[in-house]
Amino acid sequence: MDPSSREAIEIVPVQALALQHSGVPLVDVREAGEWALGSPVGAHRVPLGRVHEVPAITGAPADRTLLMICASGKRSALAACQLAAAGYRDVRSVAGGVTRWRAEGLPIEHVSLLDDDARVRYSRHLLLPEFGESGQLALARGRVTVIGAGGLGSPALYYLAAAGVGHLRVVDFDRVDRSNLQRQILHRDDGVGEPKVASAARALAALNPRIRIEPIDARVELANVEALVGDVDVVLDGSDNFAARYLVNDACVKHGKPLVYGAVHRFEGQVGVFWPARPGTGGPCYRCLFPLPPPPDAAPNCAEAGVLGVVPGLVGLLQANEVIKLLTGLGEPLVGRLLGVDALGARFREVRLPRDPACPACAHPGRIVLADGVAICAAQPPSV
Ligand SMILES: [Zn+2]
Repeated sequence: MDPSSREAIEIVPVQALALQHSGVPLVDVREAGEWALGSPVGAHRVPLGRVHEVPAITGAPADRTLLMICASGKRSALAACQLAAAGYRDVRSVAGGVTRWRAEGLPIEHVSLLDDDARVRYSRHLLLPEFGESGQLALARGRVTVIGAGGLGSPALYYLAAAGVGHLRVVDFDRVDRSNLQRQILHRDDGVGEPKVASAARALAALNPRIRIEPIDARVELANVEALVGDVDVVLDGSDNFAARYLVNDACVKHGKPLVYGAVHRFEGQVGVFWPARPGTGGPCYRCLFPLPPPPDAAPNCAEAGVLGVVPGLVGLLQANEVIKLLTGLGEPLVGRLLGVDALGARFREVRLPRDPACPACAHPGRIVLADGVAICAAQPPSV
């Protein structure tokens, strides 16, 4: 549309407002993200791509005047042309759009992007001024891979699902065993023998049907690790073996993803965030602490080591807390710090973690060659 024909159908904002007050429908044809920042009071809101729905939404017959508004007047002119082609005889475009409407002090309202269910479901988040709708929308956009639907993954996944993280990829190759139920609270007695990801997906969908759960019934290995971590915002490591842990660390370093680490042993646990690529203040990676896996005889057998059931609960929730902070930008993540939990002493201990300039992984992330490790038990976190 050339500028002269655009001007022919334009109307200044103050005249548009007067027409709107006399009952003429005003349609904001911008996108939802723009409405959230302010839209004329009482406007119908239909993005340009769906302008064919305007007749049904406004209920206006073809001989009725319609007003279109966008950010500056271009999209609204296109919308007016489309509606004219559909038979409307008098469609006007507001000159200067919402920018001019706002500058002239005409009434604007802020539009919630959350529907009624979300406003109720997440109301306790929305009451937090620091969190609010923007925090909730950040969670809804969030994509997280959780490695392991076991002791750490169970509490973490429950709370991430409840919080409204939009896409949870759950990776586990194991089946539910009765000995898991003492701590792996996603699973139930009637699910014994079932794949853990199926049991997890059922429990999470029952808790929050709004979110997308992507169960991956597979072992983390060289062939799939980059696909599992490469397209998400955050990776949560709830794995129970060193092979997966080193492979996931190396893939996260290579792809610049934050890795929320957790480990438990008997009455103790550890949590931290490994993110060398963090803008500004990148921290260490897992290999900065432990360059290589310990020899198999130095690590206890998973089933023999034992763990108090609440300890992975504590650590998994701290991991979920870090994921929520990373997705929303709230608070200070555990980058460059390792938090130890002592359940018997009821004490937390923090150790600062420097980055190793000679680290085999994060010193040269562009040169990382992923390799399968030795599958040995990681029930015991290496001592720091
Ligand atoms: Zn490193």
